[in-house]
Amino acid sequence: MPLLKSWVESANSPDTDFPLNNLPCGVFSIGEGEPRCGVAIGDMILDVTALEEEGMLTLSDTPVFDVPFWNDFMELGPEAWSKFRIMLLGYLGEKAEQTASIEPHLHPRSRARLHMPFMVAEFTDFYAGKHHASNVGTMFRGPENALPPNWLHIPIGYNGRASSVKVSGSEFNRPWGQLKAPDADAPSFAPSKRFDMELEMGAVVGQPSDGMVSVAEADEMIFGYVLLNDWSARDIQAWEYQPLGPFQAKATATTISPWIVMRAALEPFRVSTPAREKELLPYLREPGPMLYDIKLEADIQPEGAARPTTITRTNYREMYYSSAQQLCHHTTAGAPMNVGDLLGSGTISGPERENRGSLLELSWGGKEPVELDTGEERSFMEDGDTITLRGWCEGDGYRVGFGECGGKLLPAVKLPEGFA
Ligand code: MN
Repeated sequence: MPLLKSWVESANSPDTDFPLNNLPCGVFSIGEGEPRCGVAIGDMILDVTALEEEGMLTLSDTPVFDVPFWNDFMELGPEAWSKFRIMLLGYLGEKAEQTASIEPHLHPRSRARLHMPFMVAEFTDFYAGKHHASNVGTMFRGPENALPPNWLHIPIGYNGRASSVKVSGSEFNRPWGQLKAPDADAPSFAPSKRFDMELEMGAVVGQPSDGMVSVAEADEMIFGYVLLNDWSARDIQAWEYQPLGPFQAKATATTISPWIVMRAALEPFRVSTPAREKELLPYLREPGPMLYDIKLEADIQPEGAARPTTITRTNYREMYYSSAQQLCHHTTAGAPMNVGDLLGSGTISGPERENRGSLLELSWGGKEPVELDTGEERSFMEDGDTITLRGWCEGDGYRVGFGECGGKLLPAVKLPEGFA
């Protein structure tokens, strides 16, 4: 598919994340104004709440953009999603006739504050990157037992905390937790010393389920995707994870990009999951390509550093299981899925060292620290570090991007009385 040209000039630049092909969904505010729903177009944001108020974007009997989140719109379902895109393509395309009535509702993105784009119903995080699982397994259990015996058959995950999910730009404190070094006799309660990032994509579930859904139906239920950083305290994780998996290690923060890129915008970039090493059970087999070719990278910027250092470059197509497979598997035990559920893909590492999606892997457990452009080294995060993820699909002369997903680590809070 070629670049779709817009009369909003900045949307036609080959460098923008937000050409007319994209139209990602966010929530923004200007100055002291209330947060509203908007769509990014080039350097601007189109206020869709205002368009709905003016009767130019009627998608159902009752308004869906009178709230500062996209859940009500998602609930309308795939037909309304495509109707919405068709209407916006009409309003913003280069041949649009109503530009005078649209222009007042365009706001410079540089003036906007971005908020959580949707209310997260529940959050599940998976472990579906084979390079990541092999690397971590090798470090924790040795190369012979790197992949657990179930890994090639099940998309493994855990139920996380929706309350941990924050929008890009949020700051959070280094967590306290129970730690025990392998050679220590007893655990201690202390701030995590091995705080880490995980470069992931998040699938936003836009339709509810009642009973089992197939992989094909699951794909249709996905509204769109966000960048996702699953912040992880490795020392808390190492001590707590057996036998029930991660818990407090993943309960500090999860950062997402402020823009949800709708599935329709990603269609031209579909790719298949890699060849199977073991045949999957029939219910998990993919009826078609369910992954996307999304280039991903992460930067780290220490407090006060003049510029960030890019520490990894990878691609979403490295995943062993797609979000559709994960969602299908998620529905098989009985719990319904809801509008606003968020599914983390799992850390996306590639085959080479420079493609690893976490500091744990990049520094190989702290044995090979990463060198920054500032001359500093990092095995895990230091207080004041900001990590920013970026992701985009490369089209012919344009890109469909997710913007940035950044978060900053602040020092641990002062210990409340009685905890020492
Ligand atoms: Mn994760």
